[in-house]
Amino acid sequence: MSNKLIAGNWKMNGSLAANEALVKAMLAGIGQPSAEVALCAPSPYLAQLQSLLQGSPIAWGSQDVSAHEQGAYTGEVSVGMLKDFGCRYAIVGHSERRQYHGETDELVAAKAQRALSAGVTPIVCVGETLAEREANETEAVVKRQLAAVIHTVGHCITEIVVAYEPVWAIGTGKTATPEQAQAVHAVLRAQLAAATTNSKRVHILYGGSMNAANAATLLAQPDIDGGLIGGASLKAADFLQIVAAAA
Ligand code: PEP
Repeated sequence: MSNKLIAGNWKMNGSLAANEALVKAMLAGIGQPSAEVALCAPSPYLAQLQSLLQGSPIAWGSQDVSAHEQGAYTGEVSVGMLKDFGCRYAIVGHSERRQYHGETDELVAAKAQRALSAGVTPIVCVGETLAEREANETEAVVKRQLAAVIHTVGHCITEIVVAYEPVWAIGTGKTATPEQAQAVHAVLRAQLAAATTNSKRVHILYGGSMNAANAATLLAQPDIDGGLIGGASLKAADFLQIVAAAA
C-alpha cells in the first residue's frame, strides 16, 4: 500500500470567502504531508480550488459525477468538465446521494466507470444503515454495493478508491469502533482480492465522524488506508490533525 489518503468532503457547505480562508489555513499548516490529501467541494467552487491548490500538496475533486458523457441532462456535471478544472477525484455513491436522490448500485457503478474513463479516480462509497447493521446485514450490503462496481469496471477495479461509510456514523458523532471498521474493511479487501491480484493497491477509506481525536486509532488498523472526512474537513486545524495522524 502506498501512502494513506485523507479526503475531505465539504458537502453543501462553503462560500468563496469561507473556502479561501479555510484552504489558506490548511496550506499554511500542511507542510509536506506523508499522506495523500484531497478536498472535494461543491462543483461551483472547483475553479476556486484549482486556483488555490494548483502546485500544492492538496488535490481536489467533486462530490458526484454524471454517468453520461454529455448532452440533455440538466443539472448534471460531466467528467470532462471535472477534468477541465483539474479534478483528480470524484466521490460517487455517497449515502446522501443514495438516500436523497435514489441512486442505485448500478447507477453508482456507471458513475465510477465514467470517472475512470477520463482518468478521474472515483471514491466509491459503500455502507450499511443502522437497521441493516442491527439485522446483521452489514457484510451482505457492502458486498452487494462493491460487487456492482467490480462487475461494471472489470480489471480497472485497481484504479478506484473505496470508502466504507456506515450510514449511522455519518455526521452523527457516532464513530464505528476501530474493530468494527477493520472487520468490514477486511471483508472489502477480501472481495477485492477475489477480483484482482492487486487488491492492496486499492485504498479503502473509513468515513463516519472521523475526527482529530479518533483518527489515529482508526488509521492504525491494517486495512484502513485513509479517511473520508465530512464535518472535520471544514475546520483547518482538525483536518490537519487527521492528516498528521495518517503519517
Ligand atoms: C461524509 O460525509 O462522507 C462523512 C464521513 O461525514 P462526517 O465525517 O461528518 O461523518
